[in-house]
Amino acid sequence: MIIDVPELSLVALVGISGSGKSTFARHHFAPTQVLSSDYFRGLVADDENDQSASADAFDVLHYVAGKRLAAGRLTVVDATNLQTHARAGLVKVAREHDVLPTAIVLDVPESIAWERTESREDRTFGRQVITRMHRDLRRSLKQLSREGFRKIHVLRGVDEIAGAEIRYEKLF
Ligand code: ATP
Ligand code: MG
Repeated sequence: MIIDVPELSLVALVGISGSGKSTFARHHFAPTQVLSSDYFRGLVADDENDQSASADAFDVLHYVAGKRLAAGRLTVVDATNLQTHARAGLVKVAREHDVLPTAIVLDVPESIAWERTESREDRTFGRQVITRMHRDLRRSLKQLSREGFRKIHVLRGVDEIAGAEIRYEKLF
């Protein structure tokens, strides 16, 4: 599947833990194009998993995203982005810089995400967290367009995710 991404856009990856967002980001984008919530939690709290640092981490992430967009640089946000309020922050930064907010949704079965998460050292939460995220994802799918995302790409299942190819659209 070809994923059209405006050359200058704010790309929000959307997906439950274990859906493969960070893997996808590494595969398709340069490291400096990707702003990950884990990384920013680490920057402000010395611990990528410290959820109590999320507000500060996202403040800084939004700030850096704004600077990048002001300079005309494609920016990818690697976070679950499963909540309307989390996505609203991204839509706001994009609009402030006249940039199109784009969503790439990684929709994998809950059982696969759980299998992957269970075997990770850096994730300690239980299955019920994945189940809750999965419910949030279903709701998110209905809300993205009315929240202001102009392009919404939904990759359903591991094969579609593996076969995805990014194609940049020229703006002018
Ligand atoms: P989180 O929201 O917790 O950061 P994530 O969506 O970023 O999760 P990844 O870290 O990319 O998920 O992937 C979770 C785990 O699954 C990793 O150990 C990764 O190596 C593995 N994984 C990702 N994609 C695949 C795949 N296509 N096939 C097999 N394993 C995969
Ligand atoms: Mg990740």
